[in-house]
Amino acid sequence: MPDAALDLLHAEMRACRRCLDAGYAIVPGAVFSGPVTARVMVVGQAPGVTESQVGRPFNASSGRRLFQWLGQAGWDEAAFRATQYMTAITKCFPGKASGGKGDRVPTPAEQALCAPFLERELALVQPEVVIPVGGLAVKRLLGAGRLSDVVGGVYEVDGRWIVPLPHPSGASLWLNRPKNRAQVQQALAQLAHLRQRFSL
Ligand code: SF4
Repeated sequence: MPDAALDLLHAEMRACRRCLDAGYAIVPGAVFSGPVTARVMVVGQAPGVTESQVGRPFNASSGRRLFQWLGQAGWDEAAFRATQYMTAITKCFPGKASGGKGDRVPTPAEQALCAPFLERELALVQPEVVIPVGGLAVKRLLGAGRLSDVVGGVYEVDGRWIVPLPHPSGASLWLNRPKNRAQVQQALAQLAHLRQRFSL
């Protein structure tokens, strides 16, 4: 269902050059997807290069793992992409990390420049369940820190259910530990429960 306010926000995000204007070497072109009727919102860190090229969140290998996880919770990828909302803390590809491994983590200044967009997305879509993916998004949505302390739990914040997940990219070493992988399984069980309870 089209929504004029969300369409306007999307147009603003696509046209945004705030980070470039502030001197950050991002690749402009905000990446996000989903309708105003979405009841679940996935919030990642920032799009990668292939996401930026094709304009689709979690398009490549990190998407494969994320949708394997969401599949365990009972969601079909195509249906999820069509009906739920996917976005990020910063919405443009930040470029590769200087060390060559993985993508550059957006600076606090870039995060602050982009923050009003996420606030507006949340206000317009009003998701019942938010899935922050990766440490940056978890910190923003939960205000708390370490993945090891929060993954596996479900938290009620501002009337929404927050279910944190680690970042599914291969650059994340957090998933190497069996204890952490067990926490992810707990988180997926929480999501499956919420999906059934609220018919999401
Ligand atoms: S990351 Fe966000 S604030 Fe920065 S240019 Fe892209 S849309 Fe604008």
